[in-house]
Amino acid sequence: MIKNECEIVKDLIPNYVENVISKATKEFVETHINSCNNCKKILEELKKEKNAEKTRMTKQEDYEIDYLKKYNKKITLLKIIAGTLMVIILAIWAFAFAKYIEYRKDYKIGEYNYSIIEQAYNKIKEIKNSKNYIYIESWQRTNCPEYKSISYYKDGKFKEENYNGDGTISYINYGVDISENDYYFVQYNEHSTEAVIGTGYRNLSREMPSSLSGFYDLGITECASLEVYEDNELYVLRKAIDEYQYDELWIDKQTMIPIKSITKDFNIRTDFKYTYKEGEVKDSDVELDESKFEDKEWKNDYGQRIKEEILSRY
Ligand SMILES: [Zn+2]
Repeated sequence: MIKNECEIVKDLIPNYVENVISKATKEFVETHINSCNNCKKILEELKKEKNAEKTRMTKQEDYEIDYLKKYNKKITLLKIIAGTLMVIILAIWAFAFAKYIEYRKDYKIGEYNYSIIEQAYNKIKEIKNSKNYIYIESWQRTNCPEYKSISYYKDGKFKEENYNGDGTISYINYGVDISENDYYFVQYNEHSTEAVIGTGYRNLSREMPSSLSGFYDLGITECASLEVYEDNELYVLRKAIDEYQYDELWIDKQTMIPIKSITKDFNIRTDFKYTYKEGEVKDSDVELDESKFEDKEWKNDYGQRIKEEILSRY
């Protein structure tokens, strides 16, 4: 054995372990190791170390692969959830849209609404111009009694009776037109000692459903339908936010006169009914009962002037 063979072998061992030496050198190292326990130990330790490292590397790789697999699984799961949500959202949207279409289906007169309102408006103008008509308006709110107002109009004079829910008179207005749009009135109210006087202005008619002007101001109503009510064909005009909040105006197709309206605001619903009668008012219907005002207190000159103006016309 060469004296410093151990030193040479020690230098060769790392390359031997990595298997990067020639066949001859390999045989030389193996021959030496078989007869030298010292070098054998060194080789075995190096081999052990290398194996340990290999295991560590494999573990790290395994961990990385595992992580990637888990990550991919998560991504897939997220994709499934997102996809499912999309389907659900689309389904809800489709359902809501179908409901909306169904809801709108009954109301498709659309662009003709304006002419319906305009015709009704003109019809009331015509009634007003006849200078002889009775207008009855009644209204009832959910769980409330029915209130009523009857207006008699003849040749520039009017009497308006307002009734309580129990049918008793609440107050009566007596009035006169002083121009095309302005009017004066005095109010008889048995519970008040003070004379109530007032002036009013109207651009069309005092006796007109307020809901009609509401619809008229809107111009074109959202939707309208044709319905049969008490054997009459009616246009039903509707301004709606949804099925819980809406206004409806019902107009007789034959006469183009509004006959009722509904105002619904969640659980409160108010029903109005309108009746017009032409040519039935007698002079006595619009006669002022002056004695009713005798014990009233006329507050100022303005009140006196209006009273005198009204009395002079009666
Ligand atoms: Zn040796």
